[in-house]
Amino acid sequence: MSSVRKPRVVVLGAGYGGLITVTRLQKQLGVNEAEITLVNKNDYHYETTWLHEASAGTLHHDRARYEIKNVIDNSRVTFVQDTVVAIDKEAKKVTLENGEVEYDYLVVSLGAHPETFGIQGLKEFAFGITSIDAARQLREHIEYQFATYNTEVEKKDERLTIIVGGAGFTGIEFLGELGNRIPQLCKEYDVDFNKVRILCVEAAPTALPGFDPELVDYAVNHLQKKGVEFMIGTAIKECIEDGIIVAKGEELETIKAGTVVWAAGVRGNSVVEEAGFENMRGRVKVDEFLRAPGHDDVYIIGDCSLIINEEINRPYPPTAQIAMQQGETCAKNLSVAIRERGEMETFKPDIKGSVASLGEHDAVGVVFGKKLVGTKASFMKKMIDNRALYMVGGPSLVVKKGKFNIL
Ligand code: FAD
Ligand code: NAD
Repeated sequence: MSSVRKPRVVVLGAGYGGLITVTRLQKQLGVNEAEITLVNKNDYHYETTWLHEASAGTLHHDRARYEIKNVIDNSRVTFVQDTVVAIDKEAKKVTLENGEVEYDYLVVSLGAHPETFGIQGLKEFAFGITSIDAARQLREHIEYQFATYNTEVEKKDERLTIIVGGAGFTGIEFLGELGNRIPQLCKEYDVDFNKVRILCVEAAPTALPGFDPELVDYAVNHLQKKGVEFMIGTAIKECIEDGIIVAKGEELETIKAGTVVWAAGVRGNSVVEEAGFENMRGRVKVDEFLRAPGHDDVYIIGDCSLIINEEINRPYPPTAQIAMQQGETCAKNLSVAIRERGEMETFKPDIKGSVASLGEHDAVGVVFGKKLVGTKASFMKKMIDNRALYMVGGPSLVVKKGKFNIL
């Protein structure tokens, strides 16, 4: 009697895209239909969309993560805690730091890396809002600056300067958290609030480029009231050990700071680029079924993928909203491919809106075409955050990790 080997599905990354794919696949495919393996660097998933809070210190980093084994069906999915080093798409093999996995079908959902545009000094001297470890390091660094300010023989005010590069959604949301956190740190470490400088440097002619101008004004005014200074139309040219160099027109200026945070954009995970997939800034323009061109066995989703918005002929900005929707489609299409029957689903993002938080109780956003500001927008943001938990882990995960501090 000949036994036919089950197809091996390997999912790389347990972020929004990867976890939705796996939690759907484990239900859709029978035990005898496929072997499912999930590979992730850590044994936990973190809510990338909450990292600005953990970075500022307004939310403990443990609140923003949960164990992967608690949300997957461990009898159906083999979880491998390891770091992906390389993908060999010809040999259908993934090299990990501590081993390798072979696949028949691969899902790449490894998220984003910071886009540094080759700017000198960023990798060495700037902090990023990129993972739990990075968030914790940034929070502790800022706290250390406050803790040591009064105890140094020579007080250096620039210790209390925090520069945020980029006023996109990440930069603005982080500034919103700082607006609440800095007064707490001043009180705790006997620091005069007037000595603190929070500066946001944005290269484009406006904060939140492309967003509704009325909402941009609301966000900027709100943050200015909290003490944030904006340098708009100013590009960061270099990051140095104790600050940044900016260009405003022809002029170069050095601004000293104890903390520089780079929040000026993302690109796809470098593993994708190194694997030799055709890409734009690490993102692969996938086909309508989410497969890499020329590789029907490789699905690429989330921040590693690029989907064109046909209406404006530009890529959709990478978001958790899209990554989760792609996870659903990816699982369906994998099931069709494995069973060799049924019709694959064409992926089309269903954008419900976007909301940027401005600290715990304020936000701006457009939801189902309606503009929202203040507590209504903030409420909506928390519902969106809770929904992401619900989509992966159902009501019990919402109860454990959800945001209920509504007022
Ligand atoms: P991720 O969710 O980032 O997951 C990638 C996973 O891969 C992680 O678990 C990571 O540890 C793992 N990984 C990475 N490299 C390796 C490796 N080499 N080996 C093994 N594992 C690896 N989008 C929204 O829609 N709404 C929001 O409100 C929102 N807020 C945001 C706030 C912040 C501060 C940031 C930074 C982003 C925000 N985004 C938001 C964007 C959103 O977080 C991303 O688009 C989304 O996380 C992409 O999902 P993903 O599955 O591609 O990657
Ligand atoms: P982004 O690309 O949206 O914004 C980066 C900003 O940095 C831009 O405004 C850009 O002009 C600016 N910039 C680039 N180079 C610069 C330089 N040298 N000096 C100064 N400014 C410079 O990146 P992001 O904010 O990190 O967001 C990444 C993705 O995550 C986006 O798709 C975004 O929509 C998504 N996101 C969504 C939310 C939300 O929905 N609440 C929150 C955070 C991030």
